[in-house]
Amino acid sequence: YIVCDQVTKSFGSHQVLQGVSTSFSKGEVTVIIGASGSGKSTLLRALNRLEPHDGGTITIDGVPVTDHEATLQKQRCEVGMVFQQFNLFGHMTVLDNITLAPRRIHKTPRATANAKALQLLERVGMQDHAHKYPWQLSGGQQQRVAIARALAMEPQVMLFDEPTSALDPEMVQEVLEVMRGLAQSGMTMIVVTHEMGFAREVADRVMFFDQGCIAHEAPPAEFFARPANERIAAFIGRVA
Ligand code: ATP
Ligand code: MG
Repeated sequence: YIVCDQVTKSFGSHQVLQGVSTSFSKGEVTVIIGASGSGKSTLLRALNRLEPHDGGTITIDGVPVTDHEATLQKQRCEVGMVFQQFNLFGHMTVLDNITLAPRRIHKTPRATANAKALQLLERVGMQDHAHKYPWQLSGGQQQRVAIARALAMEPQVMLFDEPTSALDPEMVQEVLEVMRGLAQSGMTMIVVTHEMGFAREVADRVMFFDQGCIAHEAPPAEFFARPANERIAAFIGRVA
């Protein structure tokens, strides 16, 4: 569904992505791990053009990711993203956070958007908080709202960049639980995380990033049972 072919990206003289080639199939859950600075966030950001890549090609459903206005808008709708910092709009209620993009971009009538938002809130266990503001919610609750907000655009794939890294430990599981449900529903997911339990249980494939390259990828059972090299073994040892 998403195909990366020799994708490169530099910041100044620093080549952060050194020719990434891989593909992400429909319904597949990929967990990306790797050291800080290895290019994980840059790859995710390139997939939805928050950061343009400078070499190689990325295609989504056969359509290249470029700055072409019409396709970019459509691709951004197809690719939902959830960040470490939840990035909710602080001056808007939970409901308005979720309905803003569907109303603005899809021109969904308010009543329809609200009904859909309430369904999504139920899915993430937040149906009782629709009229609250972000500051009235815990970090875990805010992140669940951020997931519902991304889902409101009916994306084909969801990107998660360390969605639980900013949370207090007791809130990590409630967010992972929502993500697990999403995976079970068949959503295509690309998840950068240090949560090795999630990787083992939910991922179809674990990808190890090292210095801007995919150093290794394998199904989780194989990935964790037989680390392909010393660096991976050391990394797993540190975060597990
Ligand atoms: P982390 O685990 O810390 O989130 P990461 O694997 O996500 O790391 P990236 O955020 O992709 O790493 O960053 C890769 C490299 O690119 C880093 O050296 C970073 O300093 C650099 N970099 C990222 N964004 C920019 C930018 N906008 N301008 C300049 N350098 C950048
Ligand atoms: Mg990152």
